[in-house]
Amino acid sequence: MDDNRTFICDFSKPEAENLMKALAYEAKAKELSDTLFNAMTEALNFLNLRNTHDNRARVLGYLNMRGGAVRFVKMNYERYRQLAKEKEEKELKAKREAEFAENLKVIRERAVQYLLDHGKRFGLDFNLDTAIAVANETAYDVEVAIRKNASTIYDFAGSDSCEDCAGWDGESHRCECGNRRVYWAAEGDFTNMTLYAEAY
Ligand SMILES: [Zn+2]
Repeated sequence: MDDNRTFICDFSKPEAENLMKALAYEAKAKELSDTLFNAMTEALNFLNLRNTHDNRARVLGYLNMRGGAVRFVKMNYERYRQLAKEKEEKELKAKREAEFAENLKVIRERAVQYLLDHGKRFGLDFNLDTAIAVANETAYDVEVAIRKNASTIYDFAGSDSCEDCAGWDGESHRCECGNRRVYWAAEGDFTNMTLYAEAY
C-alpha cells in the first residue's frame, strides 16, 4: 500500500488512527482541489479562455501581465473618436457640397427662367453654364434702361467735387457740369439688383 505518493501512513500507529488521518487528508485535499478548480475556472472565464489544458498553463502568465489593458482601451477609443470625427467632417463636407450644388441648381433654374422671360434664347444667348452671369448682365441692362428712359437728372456719389452741378442724366459719360465721369454701379444679382449713380 505505498502507491499513494503524498499521504504518509505511520504504520507504527493503529489502523483506525491512520484511517482517521486518511479521511481528513482526503477531505482537505478535495477542499483544496475544489478551491483550485473554482479559482482556475474563474481565471479562465475572466481571461476569456476556453477551459483547455493549454489555457490552464497560460492563466498565470496572462494574470501577471500589467499595463497593457488600460493603454489598449485608451488608444483604441482615441482612434475611434478620430475616425468618428473624420467621418462627421466628411459627411458635413458632402452635405455642404450637396447644398451648394442644390442652391446653384435652383439659382440657375431661376436665371434660365428670367432670361426666357426677357426674350433671351437658350443655346444662342446663353446656356446652363452662362445663365447666371448673363441673367445678371441682363438685369443690369434692364435697370439701366429704366433709368435712362425716365429722363430724370440723378444725384450721384462724388458730385461734391463739382460746383453748382445739376447731377447726371443717367446716360451721358459725364455729369451736367462736365466735371465727373459717372456710371451706374450695381449691387445684388438678377433676383434683386440695386443701382446707384457713382463718379469714377
Ligand atoms: Zn458735375
